[in-house]
Order: sequence, then structure tokens, then C-alpha cells
Amino acid sequence: MNWKCDVVTDLAPMYHDGVASVASRKLVEEHLRECPECRNYYKKYRPVEGIKMETPVSAQADFVKLAKQMRKRRLLLWGGFLSYVSATVVALVAYYVRKNDK
Ligand SMILES: [Zn+2]
Repeated sequence: MNWKCDVVTDLAPMYHDGVASVASRKLVEEHLRECPECRNYYKKYRPVEGIKMETPVSAQADFVKLAKQMRKRRLLLWGGFLSYVSATVVALVAYYVRKNDK
């Protein structure tokens, strides 16, 4: 390993993004021709992840809040429905029990 290897590996991200200067590019290409180690490094090189677009954190938080609200609303709805049904059942049972008692 000589100093050029360090420089050339340091330049890898810029070289791959196509933003390296002409001089750097030339240095990299010349070095890759004579250095199999760096050639190997450049072959394996992948640009750092994290550049890809992600949903902003605030939007995610909004979504979570919305989901929580929906869940609460659904629970309320179910609660109302269940109490309505049970009230109806109780009323019907009371009606039939009274009718049969006669
Ligand atoms: Zn090298």
C-alpha cells in the first residue's frame, strides 16, 4: 500500500458520483491500471446508502397520529355498537321473560 492507494480509495465516492475533478479522475484511472488492490476495491465499491429518498419524519409522525385517531374512533364505534346490541338483547330477553311469566 502506498499513499496513492489511500488517496484513490478516498476518492472512490466522488469518482463514482462523477463529481471528481479531471485531475482526480485521471489519478484514479492511472492508479487503477497499475494497482489490482484498488481495482478490486473500486469493483466492490457501492455508494453509501442513505441518499435515497425517505418519508420525512414529520410526515411519519402525522401518519402515526392519524392511525391512532382512527383506531380510537373505531373502538368508540365498536363500543357504541356493542352497547346498543347488548341493550337490545337485554330488552328482548326481558320482554320474553315477562311474556312467558304470564
Ligand atoms: Zn492502490
